Amino acid sequence: MAKGTVPVQKNEMYEVTFEDLTHDGAGVAKINGYPIFVPGALPGEKGTVKVIKINKGYAFGRLMELEVESEFRVEPDCPIYHKCGGCQLQHMSYEGQLLAKKKQVEGVLSRIGKLDNVMVHNVLGMAEPWRYRNKAQVPVGEREGGLVAGFYQQRSHDIIDMDKCLIQEQLNDEIVQAVKGIFEKYGVRAYNEERHTGTLRHIMARYGQVTEEAMIVLVTKEEKLPNKSQMIQEIVDISPKIKSVVQNINAKRTNVILGDKTKVLYGEEYIHDYIGDIKFAISAKSFYQVNPKQTKVLYDKTLEFASLNGSETVIDAYCGIGTISLFLAQRAKHVYGVEIVPEAISDAKRNARLNGIENVEFAVGEAEKVIPWWYAQGIHADVLVVDPPRKGCDETLLDTIIKMKPKKVVYVSCNPATLARDLRVLEDGGFKTIEVQPVDMFPHTTHCEAVAKLVLQ
Ligand code: SAH
Repeated sequence: MAKGTVPVQKNEMYEVTFEDLTHDGAGVAKINGYPIFVPGALPGEKGTVKVIKINKGYAFGRLMELEVESEFRVEPDCPIYHKCGGCQLQHMSYEGQLLAKKKQVEGVLSRIGKLDNVMVHNVLGMAEPWRYRNKAQVPVGEREGGLVAGFYQQRSHDIIDMDKCLIQEQLNDEIVQAVKGIFEKYGVRAYNEERHTGTLRHIMARYGQVTEEAMIVLVTKEEKLPNKSQMIQEIVDISPKIKSVVQNINAKRTNVILGDKTKVLYGEEYIHDYIGDIKFAISAKSFYQVNPKQTKVLYDKTLEFASLNGSETVIDAYCGIGTISLFLAQRAKHVYGVEIVPEAISDAKRNARLNGIENVEFAVGEAEKVIPWWYAQGIHADVLVVDPPRKGCDETLLDTIIKMKPKKVVYVSCNPATLARDLRVLEDGGFKTIEVQPVDMFPHTTHCEAVAKLVLQ
C-alpha cells in the first residue's frame, strides 16, 4: 500500500479476518496492512464489517455479520454488559481473556521494548473471576420520581439503574439497593448535576473481604438530612457486617466524587482488611486495592522477584498506602517508600504502626525528585521496586536508577506499553530483564498488570 493511501471507504462493507485485540478490547482486522478497529470482534473470527469512521492511519468499523466465531466466544453473563462499559471482555471466555492478556504483554515487549527473548509466564488468573471488587461507587439520579443508582450510560450523563454487578462484592450490591430504598422512602431527592439541586450524590460501599467489615459512605450536597436518626438506624440494620456509616459532604459543582468534609454517622471512621498478614485501615477516602486477593498474588510475586535475605536496603517508588513497602519490610533491613499523595503517606505510616513494622520510612513527593535527593544523601538501594501509574516512570527516575545501580529492579506495572518502554531504557542502562509475570487483577476488563524482574549486568 502506498504511504498515505487509505484502502477503505466510509459506509462500505468489507469481509475481514480479525487478528488481534486492541488494549481497549476491540477486534483488529487489517486490509493491506491498514488496521480497522471493531468493537465486539475477537481474534480468529471472520466477518463483515461496515467502516464507520476513517482516520489517516486506522479506521473504526461496526461488526455486521460474523461468519466464523472464535473458540473463546461466549454469551456475556451480565444482562447490561453492552450498555455499561465497565467490563470489556465478557464476550470472551475467561481462559481466552488470560491468553489474550499474555499475548498483549508479549506483543508490546517485542514491539515497543525490542525485547524478544524475555520469558513471559502464563497470566495468573482467579479461580473464581466474579464478584471480586470490594468497592462500589455509584451515582444516584431520579427517574419518574423514584431514585436510580447505577452507572452513567456510555458517552452520556444519564444514570442507568443497576441492581447487580457481577464483578462487585454481593453485599455492596445489596447495600446500594437498600440505601437507595431508604432514601426514597424518606423523600430525599437525588442531586441534579445540571441544576445543582437535590441532596444524595453518590452511594459508596467498601468491604473487607477478610475481616467481613463493611463501610457505607453517603455523599450528599449538604449536611442536613430529614429524619436522620431513623434513616441511619435503617441503614445500619441492612446487615450486621456494617461497621461504619459516614457522610461525606460535597457542595461543589464538580465531577470529583468526594468533598472535603466527612462525618461519622455510626461506628468507626475506619474498617479493616488484610492483604496476606498485613492489616490495613480503610477510611472513606483511603486508596485501597479493589481486588485484594489478586493483589496478594501480585505482591507475592514482587517479593519473590526481590528475593530478599534480610540485609537489604529497599526503595519502593510510587508506594501509595505502603502496601508493597510493608510486604517487603518483613524481609528487608530497611525500606524507604515515596509517594506523591500526602493522604496516602499518612495512611502508609498508620498502617506501619498498626502492624508494628518499624524498619520503614515514608516520604511525600515526586519519586523523580525524592529518589535523586536520597541518592545524593548516600541512600543506596540494593533492590528498587517501582509501581508507577499508567504513564510509567519519569525519565529522571530511570536515569537515577541507572546511576544508583541497585542489584535488582522489580517493576510492577498497570500498563504493559509503558512497562515495555521503560524496560528498554533500563536495558540500555545496564539491566537485564529476566522474566515477566502478568497477573489478572481485573477479570472481564482489559486492564492488565504485570511484574518484571531485572538484574544489574
Ligand atoms: N504501590 C501502591 C500503588 C501504586 S499506584 C500500592 O500498592 O498501593 C501508583 C501511585 O503512584 C499512586 O498512589 C499515585 O498517587 C502515585 N504517583 C503518581 N505520580 C507519582 C510521582 N511522580 N511520584 C510519586 N508517586 C506518584
